[in-house]
Amino acid sequence: MDITVAYFHSFFRPEVTKRDFEQIRSVGATNVVFAVHEQEEMRYSRDLERALRQALDAGLNIHLSLGRFGNLFAGPSLMPSWYTFRHPQSRVQDRHGRVHGISCFNHESFRSWLFGEIEYYLTNYPINGIVLDEPRGPDITCFCSVCRALCPDITDLQHFRRRSFIDFLSELFTRVKSVDSHMNTSIVLLPQDLYLAEELAQIASLDTIGCHLFWQLLNEDVARVKEWGEVLMKSTRSHKKCSQLWLQNFSLDEQHEELLEQAFADIVDLDPGEVACYYYWRNNTNPERVWEKTRSLLRRIPRRQLYWNTLSHLPMLKTPTMKGL
Ligand SMILES: [Zn+2]
Repeated sequence: MDITVAYFHSFFRPEVTKRDFEQIRSVGATNVVFAVHEQEEMRYSRDLERALRQALDAGLNIHLSLGRFGNLFAGPSLMPSWYTFRHPQSRVQDRHGRVHGISCFNHESFRSWLFGEIEYYLTNYPINGIVLDEPRGPDITCFCSVCRALCPDITDLQHFRRRSFIDFLSELFTRVKSVDSHMNTSIVLLPQDLYLAEELAQIASLDTIGCHLFWQLLNEDVARVKEWGEVLMKSTRSHKKCSQLWLQNFSLDEQHEELLEQAFADIVDLDPGEVACYYYWRNNTNPERVWEKTRSLLRRIPRRQLYWNTLSHLPMLKTPTMKGL
C-alpha cells in the first residue's frame, strides 16, 4: 500500500518546501500531488521547477493535477479557468440555451489547447504523472453547435455526452502516455460520480482511479467511507487498476477530528493500492493536531523498501521557459 500526499502550499520559500517534503517522505509517502492552475505557471515557473526538483530529491514521485483547466476539474483555489474566460464560445450550453461556466470537451480548439498544455508540462518539468481531480463530466447534457453536429440525433445527446466524455479522457491519457509511456495517469472521483468507475476502469491508458471519501464535507456519516470505498475497489480490482482512497484530513472540527481514526481504519481495511491525504490542508480547528494524527496513522502502514526516484526515463530536462499569454 503506497502513500500519496497532496501539497497545496506556496513554493516561494525553498527552505520551507524542502523541510515539508522531507517530512512527507518520512511518513513513508512515495507520491506527492501538486496542483497548478493555468494562471500560475506563467508567473512563477522558477519556483515551480525548484519545488518539483526538491520533491524529487526528497525521493517523491511527482503527480501534477490540472487545477480547474477549462473549469472541468477541481483545484485548490476557487479561481475560474483562464481559458474558459478568454474563450466564452467554448462553454457548455444546456437544452434551454443557458451557458454554463465550463468548456465543452468536444470543442477541438479546447482539446488541442489542453493536450498542448499537458505536453508542455510533461516535457519541461520533472513529472511522473498527471491527475484529473473531480472531473465535471456528463452532469450537464451539452447542446452546443459542436455537440449537435457530432450527434445529430437530439434524443441521443445525453448518452452521447457520456460516451464522448469517456472518449475525451481516453484520448487525454493516451496523449500523456505518448509523451512518455512510463507516465502515470490518474483520475479522482467524488462519491456521487462513482457510477462512472466501471467505464473509466476500461480505459486502457488510465492507471489509477481514486475517490475522495469526504464524508464530513458531503454531510454524510463516517460509515459511508467504507461503502464508497467498496464500490471503487470492486471496479479497480476487476480491471486491474490501481485504487487510491482519500482520507478527509481537512475541514474538521474537534468532534469530527475524533473520527479520523475510524475513517482511516476503514480505508486500510479495504486494502487499496494507495492511501491519500493532504499535508496541512484547509479549515481544521486544530491544524497541527490533525497533521500529527494523520502522521501517526500513516506510520501504521507497513513500509515498502525505500527507493530514490531518478526519473531515468526523462533523457534531458529542459529549462522551463515563461509562456506568454
Ligand atoms: Zn458541447
